Amino acid sequence: MNIYTTYSTKKTSQSDPIPGKDMVKNSAGGFTFSIDDWQRLERFLILGTAGGTYYTSAKQLTKENADCVLSCIKIDGIRTVKIITDISHSGNAPKNDPALFALAMCTGLGDPLTKQAALMALPLVARIGTHLFHFATYAEQFRGWGRGLSSAIKAWYQDKSTDDLAYQAVKYQSRDGWSHRDMLRLAHPKTEDKEHNAIYRWIVSGKYEPSINNLIIAFEKAKEAIEPDITLITDYGLTREMVPTSWLNNVEVWGALLEKMPMTAMIRNLGKMSNVGLLKPMSKAVDKVVSKLNSENIKRARVHPLSILVALRIYQQGHGMKGSLTWDPISQIIDALNDAFYMAFQTVEPTGKRHLLALDVSGSMGWSSIAGMPITPREGSVAMAMVTAAKEKQYHIMGFSNRFIPLPISSNQRLDDAIAKVSGLPFEGTDCALPMMWAIENKVEVDAFIVYTDNETWAGSIHPVQALRQYREKMGIPAKLIVVGMTATDFSIADPDDSGMLDVVGFATDTPAIISNFVTSH
Ligand code: CA
Repeated sequence: MNIYTTYSTKKTSQSDPIPGKDMVKNSAGGFTFSIDDWQRLERFLILGTAGGTYYTSAKQLTKENADCVLSCIKIDGIRTVKIITDISHSGNAPKNDPALFALAMCTGLGDPLTKQAALMALPLVARIGTHLFHFATYAEQFRGWGRGLSSAIKAWYQDKSTDDLAYQAVKYQSRDGWSHRDMLRLAHPKTEDKEHNAIYRWIVSGKYEPSINNLIIAFEKAKEAIEPDITLITDYGLTREMVPTSWLNNVEVWGALLEKMPMTAMIRNLGKMSNVGLLKPMSKAVDKVVSKLNSENIKRARVHPLSILVALRIYQQGHGMKGSLTWDPISQIIDALNDAFYMAFQTVEPTGKRHLLALDVSGSMGWSSIAGMPITPREGSVAMAMVTAAKEKQYHIMGFSNRFIPLPISSNQRLDDAIAKVSGLPFEGTDCALPMMWAIENKVEVDAFIVYTDNETWAGSIHPVQALRQYREKMGIPAKLIVVGMTATDFSIADPDDSGMLDVVGFATDTPAIISNFVTSH
């Protein structure tokens, strides 16, 4: 062997960095690029750390990401608050907890202006009572109950309309050891407004006058009712959380609740509503559910596509996660959920370009869960690829581990069927250069390689970016590479110095739109 052939900038083993490039060792032992703190902040806010990764425990991954939030706060606290607020408020993230946690960090660890901005942003990030309780838990990890924090909590209550205040008070009564009563005792909201004061008194003492907001009267009446009283639901708008648990096995109660049921609650309770006999074949209730799952409602309620995907998978299997609740799934509802998934993304324009949608189906992708939800990065990747496939005429979906894996998936399939194609694959190594090498070998014409991966590549004899450059030279096509990062690490196979490569976050509602814009950009 000629020793001078072992050092090359064109072809470098993934177990070594590319000479002259700033690369880091990933958790699998291969070398990758690393994204900057701001990009990682976005990955954290959208993907969260609750599921950990195949290589890193949830606790360790949380520490790494919290360190990143801290460094963002030190570099530019105001910018950090703005990113947290924008991502939380846009509905781009499947879970709000990372945003609440990061905002709590800003209120405790930022400079005075950052703290102030973070407290001002509280009502935009903590939009419901449960969010407020989670925020309070996190805030105590970084600060005391000074005047700033109590004023912000006070404003959260004071600035609500009477109806909204009453709704928050009865719908989200307590969580994580916090209740509205605890909040009011710490924040002492005072106002001239009689209706607000009446609700505060009720929260703290449980006593109320007949003139108090109707929703609270209905809530109190429901507690005392011996039999379910449907009119309290139809006339006053009590929701599932506001009626006694003993009512929830009654089909008429669910029928009344369904009329005005918020979207997220409806999607979560499809199994229960089938189980009690409300959703049955050819019923009006099924029509109702199907017609409510329309694009306008989904966008207005900012239902996250990942929530819809999880609901679809659970509903079609006919039993709950814990298995005690069972039902007969109805195909019209499964189809409506399938369509709703696509509606929940920001609008994507077809590009007319040729897409190779390459799914990393290696062992590590079949582990852990996105945003702590019951779906693996491997399964989530399929669903994300389907969004692009649904819009584009020219696409091909392939899988790879340390070998090429054909995947017979088309955009006409239902999501759960497409996901089933990858769920049971064997546990194998990772070579993210394979999509490009496969396209070279088979002379496949590709404008955009879209690689869905956790970026833990290590098994190849050439780096993905080198394979892409080879592809561009050999095929004469200036192909782009878009890396869809499915875990909240700081690794990426995309070279930040190459303007034809982009790193995007795995499961945001705007990800397919960003991909489509980048594919058509010059
Ligand atoms: Ca892997």
